[in-house]
Amino acid sequence: MLIVQKFGGTSVGDLERIQNVANRVAATRKAGNDVVVVVSAMSGETNKLVGFAEHFSTNPARAEMDMLLSSGERVTAALLSIALQEMGIDAEAMTGRKAGIVTDKHHTKARIEEINPQSMKNVLKEGKVVVVAGFQGVNENGDVTTLGRGGSDLSAVAIAGALKADLCEIYTDVTGIFTTDPRIEPKAKKLEKISYDEMLELASLGAKVLQNRSVELAKKLDVNLVTRSSFCDEEGTLITKEENIMEKPLVSGIALDRNQARISLMGVKDRPGIASDIFNALADAEVNVDMIIQNKAVDDTTNIDFTVPVGDLHDAKSVVDTFVKSGEIKDDSYNEDICKVSVVGVGMKSHAGVAAQAFSTMAKENININMISTSEIKVSMVIDEKYAELAVRSLHNTYELDK
Ligand code: ADP
Ligand code: ASP
Ligand code: MG
Repeated sequence: MLIVQKFGGTSVGDLERIQNVANRVAATRKAGNDVVVVVSAMSGETNKLVGFAEHFSTNPARAEMDMLLSSGERVTAALLSIALQEMGIDAEAMTGRKAGIVTDKHHTKARIEEINPQSMKNVLKEGKVVVVAGFQGVNENGDVTTLGRGGSDLSAVAIAGALKADLCEIYTDVTGIFTTDPRIEPKAKKLEKISYDEMLELASLGAKVLQNRSVELAKKLDVNLVTRSSFCDEEGTLITKEENIMEKPLVSGIALDRNQARISLMGVKDRPGIASDIFNALADAEVNVDMIIQNKAVDDTTNIDFTVPVGDLHDAKSVVDTFVKSGEIKDDSYNEDICKVSVVGVGMKSHAGVAAQAFSTMAKENININMISTSEIKVSMVIDEKYAELAVRSLHNTYELDK
């Protein structure tokens, strides 16, 4: 078999843990498999580097950030390869560039455009374990790019797809995908299987156990994806096609995204095309807008509220400023103390009342809902950050996910 094994930050968090990873990789190799390993930076490392940059600037150039942040993954790739060699396992560490990962030009959130896997194939053919620095690629100018936070998952899935690997294992610090973050609700249950679509919703709505784009790509390329723990041998969770799952629960999980900010625009000129102008300008600035609420106009002006990831707040403010200066928006305000809780499940498609139950749960806990959005398989609510964990636990209880 050809197996891609990805190890996240905590799994390579110190030298002893890197040795532990080396042992696992060596065992997989000795069992006769070809192995490509993808590693994250040691836990806390990427945040530490971000902090260093912020010491000098509130808005550091994105290209320089990529130069900086991509270094963390290189350290672990090199150390793991050294550890493997010391154990008598032939191994070679590679940057994203050497692994052939070509991305678009969008620094700090680049998309993978293609993978030229020849180097990896050559090294595998020599009988070596390939150890790739995750989270990074190279654009057409030869500049290093990174794939967005949590992007090593995407590196692993993309490599598994390009090499047509039999299996892609994501090793992390929990034993699989749970009905909600087990750190918030200890009663959360591990799922044996989950569909790509539900996992994509959970990931997009804040369950950082898998990066959302990695799930999207796994679905597209039909990659056999398993999430499991690097600290024990318990079987993980298989992320697979909906048709492979017999029992379809109404609700499969609750997701929490603390990383959202709310932007309120007051006194917005109520003319045709204003929303188009504002949101196109935000899109041009690569701001990821999520929920939008526009109120009924009074006296030719209206209020528009929307949410963005906290990381996009700076760019969003710059865009809003230009409309404030031109007089089309009277006033703006920003609130980072919010979060988004979501209920996800494919079973909702055929059942009414899931949303109503979610709203009743918030009412019972006396939690005010600021914004709502729904789709066929999810209900999301924006609430005050201070109620985040209470909301998650109450919803988990409402849908009896611990049963
Ligand atoms: P890694 O460093 O291995 O990439 P992450 O910290 O990115 O790991 O993701 C693992 C974490 O995701 C877990 O520690 C857990 O707190 C969190 N998490 C959030 N939602 C879920 C969920 N539904 N199931 C499992 N873990 C979850
Ligand atoms: N080290 C990067 C991050 O912390 C990528 C990853 O861990 O997947 O976001
Ligand atoms: Mg991660």
